[in-house]
Amino acid sequence: MQLLDGVGTAQRIQDRIREEAAALIPQRGRAPHLAAVLVGEDPASQVYVGSKVKTCEALGFGSTLIRRNAHTSEAELLQIIRELNADPEIDGILVQLPLPKHISENAIINAIDPAKDVDGFHPVSQGNMVLGQPTYLPATPFGIQLLLAEYGIDVSGKHAVVIGRSNIVGTPMSILLSRSGTGGNATVTLTHSRTQNLKELCLQADIIVAAIGKPRFVTADMVKEGAIVIDVGINRIEDASRKSGSRLVGDVDFDAVFPKCSYITPVPKGVGPMTICGLMMNTLKAWKAGA
Ligand code: NAD
Repeated sequence: MQLLDGVGTAQRIQDRIREEAAALIPQRGRAPHLAAVLVGEDPASQVYVGSKVKTCEALGFGSTLIRRNAHTSEAELLQIIRELNADPEIDGILVQLPLPKHISENAIINAIDPAKDVDGFHPVSQGNMVLGQPTYLPATPFGIQLLLAEYGIDVSGKHAVVIGRSNIVGTPMSILLSRSGTGGNATVTLTHSRTQNLKELCLQADIIVAAIGKPRFVTADMVKEGAIVIDVGINRIEDASRKSGSRLVGDVDFDAVFPKCSYITPVPKGVGPMTICGLMMNTLKAWKAGA
C-alpha cells in the first residue's frame, strides 16, 4: 500500500505551472489573475478560499478576493459576476460553494462567462466535458486525474466505483473516468444514496472514489485487496485529544482500509491540494486562451 501524496504532487505540478506562466508573462504583459467570491462566514469555505489565494501568490498569479456577508442578495452577487465577466484583467472566476440558502447556486454558476469558468461548473463546461471537447474540467475530478497520472496509474479497463453523484465531484468524476482518452477508459459504476447493493459493488471495484460527505463511511469490508482508494470527503469530527477539540477525516475509514489497498489518498493532504492544483491549471489555461 502506498500513500498518494497530494501535497508533494501538487507542489511538483505547481512548479511547472509557475515556470510556464513566468516564461509567458513578458509577452502577455501581466500574470494570470483569479477572482474568488466568498459569501458568508462559513469557516471551512474561508479556509478553502484562503488556500486558493495563497496558492495564487506562490505561483506569481494575481488574485482578487471579494467578500460579502451572508445577507447579500442574489441580485448583488449577479452584478459582481457581471463585472468580473467584463473585466479584461480577470482570467478566472470562482464562487466558493455552498452559497447561503436564499441564493440560487445554479443562477450564479450559469452567470459566469464560460471562458472564465475555472471551477468547471458551468453547463457549457460540463457539456463539453461530456462530449470530450476542450473545456475547463471540474477542479476536484481534474485534480484526481492529475494525481493518478503523476503516479503512473492507468485506469483503462479497470472497474471504478464512484460513491456520490454531486454535480461538482461524483458525476463529473464518473464521466472523466469512463470517457475515451487519457485518464479514462475505465468501466464505471456511479452509486448514490438510493443504491441498494453498495458493498457488493465496492467489493468488485479496482478503484473506489468516495465523495459522500459522511465520516469513515467506506469500511474495510467494502474494499477488495489491492484496490485504489481515492477519498474526497472532508469531515470535521470531535476529537478530545486535540487542542482544537476536533480533526478532519475523510469518507474512508483510513486506518482499517490502508492495509488492504494498493494506493490510498490521506485526508487531509490528499485530494484537497490536488483540487487547488486543478483550479490553477484551469486559470493558467484561461489566461493563455485570452492572449
Ligand atoms: P454532496 O452532499 O453534494 O453529495 C453527496 C453524495 O453522496 C450524493 O450524491 C448522495 O447521493 C451520496 N450519498 C449520500 N449518502 C449515501 C449513501 N448512504 N450511499 C451512497 N451514496 C450516498 O457532496 P459533494 O459536494 O460531492 O462532497 C462530498 C464530500 O467531498 C464532502 O465531504 C465534501 O466536503 C468533500 N469535498 C472535498 C473536496 C476536496 O477538494 N477534497 C472538494 C469537494 C467536496
